Amino acid sequence: MTDTPSYKLPETTYPERYAIRLTPDLTHFTFVGEESVTVTVKEPTQEIVLNACELIVHKVWIVDANGNTNEGSTTFDESAERAVLRFPRVLTPGEWQLHISFEGILNDKLRGFYRSSYKDADGQDTILASTQFESTDARRAFPCWDEPALKAVFQVTLVIDEGLTAISNAAIVQETPQPGTGKKEVIFADSMKMSTYLVAFIVGEFETSEPTYVDGKPLRVCSIPGKQHLTKFGQAIGTASLQFFSQYYGRPYPGDKLDLIAIPDFAAGAMENLGAITFRETALLIDEDAAARSELERVADVVSHENAHMWFGDLVTMRWWNGLWLNEAFATFMEMMAVDNWKPEWQRWTSFAVSRAAALQVDGLRSSRPIEFPVKHPEEAAAMFNILTYEKGAAVLRMLEQYLGPPAFQKGISRYLQKHEYDSAETTDLWDAIEESTQQPVRTMMDTWVFQAGYPLISVEADGADLVISQQPFYYLQNGMDDAKHWQAPIFIKVQVNGEIQTQTALLGDAELRLSLSGSPDWAVVNAGGHGFYRVRYSSDMLNQLTGNIQARLSAIERFNLISDTWATAQAGLTPLTAYLDLLTLFQEETDHNVWAAILGPCHYLYRLLSPAQRPALQRRIRDLLGPLTQQLGWSPKDGENALISQLRGELLGALGTLGDDRATQEEAHNVYAHYKADRDTVDRNLIPSLVSILAYTGRANVYEEFRQTSQTAKTPQEEQRYQFALAAFRHQDLLKQTLVMTLNGDVRTQNAPYLMRSLLMNTDGRELAWAFLQEHWEEMAEKFPDNSVIRMCEGIVALVTPELEAEVTDFFAAHPVPQGGKMMDQHLEKLRVAVACQQREAANLETYFPG
Ligand SMILES: [Zn+2]
Repeated sequence: MTDTPSYKLPETTYPERYAIRLTPDLTHFTFVGEESVTVTVKEPTQEIVLNACELIVHKVWIVDANGNTNEGSTTFDESAERAVLRFPRVLTPGEWQLHISFEGILNDKLRGFYRSSYKDADGQDTILASTQFESTDARRAFPCWDEPALKAVFQVTLVIDEGLTAISNAAIVQETPQPGTGKKEVIFADSMKMSTYLVAFIVGEFETSEPTYVDGKPLRVCSIPGKQHLTKFGQAIGTASLQFFSQYYGRPYPGDKLDLIAIPDFAAGAMENLGAITFRETALLIDEDAAARSELERVADVVSHENAHMWFGDLVTMRWWNGLWLNEAFATFMEMMAVDNWKPEWQRWTSFAVSRAAALQVDGLRSSRPIEFPVKHPEEAAAMFNILTYEKGAAVLRMLEQYLGPPAFQKGISRYLQKHEYDSAETTDLWDAIEESTQQPVRTMMDTWVFQAGYPLISVEADGADLVISQQPFYYLQNGMDDAKHWQAPIFIKVQVNGEIQTQTALLGDAELRLSLSGSPDWAVVNAGGHGFYRVRYSSDMLNQLTGNIQARLSAIERFNLISDTWATAQAGLTPLTAYLDLLTLFQEETDHNVWAAILGPCHYLYRLLSPAQRPALQRRIRDLLGPLTQQLGWSPKDGENALISQLRGELLGALGTLGDDRATQEEAHNVYAHYKADRDTVDRNLIPSLVSILAYTGRANVYEEFRQTSQTAKTPQEEQRYQFALAAFRHQDLLKQTLVMTLNGDVRTQNAPYLMRSLLMNTDGRELAWAFLQEHWEEMAEKFPDNSVIRMCEGIVALVTPELEAEVTDFFAAHPVPQGGKMMDQHLEKLRVAVACQQREAANLETYFPG
């Protein structure tokens, strides 16, 4: 007997190869299927246990090597999502052929084998069928051993209407008409050995681009009809990133072809099915001549991320769901590498500071969790799909890469992939590979980052010619009983001594580290280059030395971190809030858009904290801060201007016209938008998102109605999204009520509605209305919205910053827990607690700074 935990399938049998034949019915939303699975029986048994959910099994039989047939019966364990197949005769060890015929439903919950609908060119509702299996929904499409380590070969056959297209993981080997039925049979090649959650099949009216080739394998972009003109950019970054990864990993693309497929209804951003990556339309289809730079970057990011998974995730897979970060942190890290390599002028690693800061924000909560934690039941893995796995994971990998040196790190990665290809691996396997290639004690260092929640606050002071660097855990909420947690933190130092700049790296393993310099420092930057996943607090002397010439001494990412770290310590009550506000006045000439994001984020936060009477004072300060630079930038790009500057112009004018409530900017925005409507080519693309947000901020019913219609007739997914989400940015209660209704009446796809609802909660003028609506319609939302999105919608509660609302929110979620979120709900609630605590603690300072 094997001793298998109850959440895992018994280890008496495992699959080698599945041949799956499915006939979907796009009219009645059902499918019938049959599969033939080559199974290895390890111990004599009369039972095969595998996963199945919402499937009806018609017939089961198993055949031995001599052709003897053994017909079985099926019982279901619904709560465990399992089918137990029982056979009258004992199955002896060896290879068997298992046959199952079954049927299921094409659901509308965006998981398993599901249906998506859209209006075709003639306005007719049209259906397509797609799949989304991660984490454990392959079992809704065919009975299977639905665990990541139980890899097998998949051969898919789809029987579909003659006029439709079928796409799966591998290339089509044969298409045969089925005379008299109006159908055809599409047979796909065998896939490589892979996990069930990576299987995909898509059926519908699709158009495909001309292929480009990487390692001799064709890459295409597939869309519903009429959208092929939006595929060029996705194809370009798809090709470039696949090429880049093939070289970086030192191993060619493992599939036989690669299709990137845009699906009108899609719960996540995209899914890395081997050879058949599915995307929501906004993440793949884009008009490269009209989209804002930030929108182009988003498509480049997502496409690169999914392509990176073809190796990290698909070729080598985590053994169990606790190792999800091996997939997701790497794909996020590699996504930056590929985009940075493709368009160095975008400075992708500098803008990664924004993601890193967002991860530091969640990870500074007492309700944070380690990147990797024990996962038993796969349902617990749903709590892993968040910022701590993706962004913190990627950030600690970046820190490690910079500490070891990129070539040594790359060698380790390549070794890891080579050793575990077509198989599964654990975190420890990765450290083994990198240690072998670098001869460095990587494991002891990385264990402190991967298996321990939180991160250190690094304090720095000068003591003569010594730099004294110490660490303590950083928390937003002080409870006076902090643990003695330590991290092995690589410290990157840039220091000027006697007029000469030096750099060095050290490892801070204990509470304190003393570094002897060649003389007392003129100034020093700790976390030089900005790769460390920690916060830095300088002594006031050292801070003054740095800020004496901030633009010269600190790079953009270092300035970003200085603001972000100071703000965090102010929120935590470790630095006076006034020190933070004074610091901002040094940034009037700042021209990096990420640094501005670090400044404007806290301004939005403060706006939510202030009473209505105090807000005009903040708005005045914002006008003072933004005025000089926006004057200088004007409203149109200069010839040959860097796209990052165009983006900065758009973002600053947007902030000035909304958060700064600047009348002149609002008027000019209306003028410029009128030009845009008359002739789109007259206005810079990077200005449009801000114009739309300013018009919403100031707009009444006529603008609302215009935006609502524009979102419905939009020419690109980005435009549709821009105008749809603008409907949450108006300020009049009657208009916001209409947007709230749209989240549930079918006007907005369920893939977007939860995020629109989150925006409504974050709108200071609409938050109370939205909160009342959420409570009233909670059951309906939980039923209609995709499972993974409800907890993300709830993030909007962080904006409900009053003690009264906080009490309501806490009571409500105590009575209505969100099952899929793990600790995410606690994290949202704690963020709200941090804001309310800051509001109460700083009441007197806020009153002085922002007199009402
Ligand atoms: Zn991913």
